[in-house]
Amino acid sequence: MAHLALVGIYGGTFDPVHFGHLRVAEELVSNIAFSRFFFVPSGQPRLRDMPVASKTQRARMVELAVQDNPGFLLDAREIKREGTSMTVETLREYQAEYSGGDTALCLIIGADAFLKIHQWWNWHEMFGLCHLIIVNRPGSMLMKHKNDLPEQIQQACAERWTAYPTSLTNQPSGLIYVASTTLLDISATYIRAMVAAGKSIRYLLPDAVSDYIKTHQLYTGEYEFKKAGRYHG
Ligand code: ATP
Ligand code: MG
Repeated sequence: MAHLALVGIYGGTFDPVHFGHLRVAEELVSNIAFSRFFFVPSGQPRLRDMPVASKTQRARMVELAVQDNPGFLLDAREIKREGTSMTVETLREYQAEYSGGDTALCLIIGADAFLKIHQWWNWHEMFGLCHLIIVNRPGSMLMKHKNDLPEQIQQACAERWTAYPTSLTNQPSGLIYVASTTLLDISATYIRAMVAAGKSIRYLLPDAVSDYIKTHQLYTGEYEFKKAGRYHG
């Protein structure tokens, strides 16, 4: 069997990046032998509200968050792209860059994002471009019950599940692995709401990122209150 190098691609709005993202990434990197692991902040999202921080600010926060970890890399390609951000486009670009036939791309997504994957542009194409690594998240534990997935997703994924991350090195794309990483109930929405409420966000994200938020007075608007279900201040 082929033994392919694995390249991890962790996409997100990262508005801001937080310890939920970073701890999951750390556990993946220590359990799966990635040759490289990229954080890819999205440009203008197609399926959600405009992020609050600018593209440059979100990328800078990721840069600050990963700078002391040699295993984490920032890839700013999506924020440099004009128009809306399409994951499949990014994967096509990666595919072209790693065209030597010795690499398998692995897209990391949280279970909440995976449950909506059938809304992504050209999502079926993804199975020919990369593997998926799904991480559970408090509130989105559906990955335990694959039969509860939307019908379309269930059908497209039926033969793709693997329980062994090592099998990701055997073929270039098309498998789905559900990683069991530590469940951290941290979201960027909650962090934005805490900032807007003038509350502490310490220990939810790296100090360098919260210092940046303070310096640039990000997330101080009041509109975020209603979005964060856990805010009862
Ligand atoms: P928001 O509240 O603004 O949606 P978020 O905290 O969900 O922010 P995103 O940038 O939307 O962060 O997430 C990027 C990716 O990371 C998604 O695939 C998401 O599912 C995953 N993710 C985010 N937070 C966690 C967490 N605490 N645990 C596991 N995965 C997470
Ligand atoms: Mg999210």
